[in-house]
Amino acid sequence: MIRLTFLGTSGSAPSKGRGLPSFAVWYDGGVYLFDCGEGTQRQMLKFGVNASSLRAIFITHVHGDHTIGIAGLLRTLALNRRTAPLEIFVPTGSEKAIAALASFDGAHMGYEIVIRGVHRGIVFDGGAFAVEAFGLEHSVPAYGYAFVEKDRVHFIKEKAARLGIKGTMFRELSAKGSIRIGRGTVRLGDVTTTEKGVRIVYASDTRPAQTTMKIAKGADLLIHEATYANELARLAEERMHSTASEAAAVARKAGVKMLVLTHISTRYKTGRVLQAEARKVFKNTEVAKDGLTITL
Ligand SMILES: [Zn+2]
Ligand SMILES: [Zn+2]
Repeated sequence: MIRLTFLGTSGSAPSKGRGLPSFAVWYDGGVYLFDCGEGTQRQMLKFGVNASSLRAIFITHVHGDHTIGIAGLLRTLALNRRTAPLEIFVPTGSEKAIAALASFDGAHMGYEIVIRGVHRGIVFDGGAFAVEAFGLEHSVPAYGYAFVEKDRVHFIKEKAARLGIKGTMFRELSAKGSIRIGRGTVRLGDVTTTEKGVRIVYASDTRPAQTTMKIAKGADLLIHEATYANELARLAEERMHSTASEAAAVARKAGVKMLVLTHISTRYKTGRVLQAEARKVFKNTEVAKDGLTITL
């Protein structure tokens, strides 16, 4: 099971009701943070996301609203006597800026902080899942991330038994994809069912992009920025952001199951306008709120 909690859903500046961008994915006892805006560590406390379970942080781009929270979070982890190394993934070229957040005051961390520059492609292999980076279209180099759970193969016991599969043959069949028994060949697909893994795609900050549509094809959840409503479509273009209906068009073209909008401009007190505009284009749309939790 995957549990995802939005920690901050505002863009550029916080509002009374929204913190700066971040969400946490819980998977198999580990917590993975995507972006880390100012105040993320307090939001984690508020919404019950355990910092000591933090395994890695994935940063979309260097803009302060997505990164400044790293400074405080790293120091609290040190106070809590973390010893495990922590990996932080950032667009290649932004490593120094992120390293400065860890080192500017000479704080003693007591654990290793590993900053890795990403290009597109798989950047993290967590065993049962992988995180893949893809290029976004923003005013500075920016990458979105896809959290991709691997497909799970289950043996159909009765069928396997009928075809004579037993003992170590299961492992051999899994590894090789087929096995010879007597005069016949049994293929993995003959005796298994495949449970499709969950796919979550995060695109922020960005214009609507082909790269997002491609990687989000058939995804269970697309989290897309929607800084503005239609009335400010020009501004969205100038500042390299998206409107709610542009984000919805990406969701529709990609054929995702659900769209959640985030990175909401402080000018919108509620998400109602954005939600209404987006739903005209893609029905299954929600506007994120801080604390919104989705299980998949
Ligand atoms: Zn932003
Ligand atoms: Zn930005």
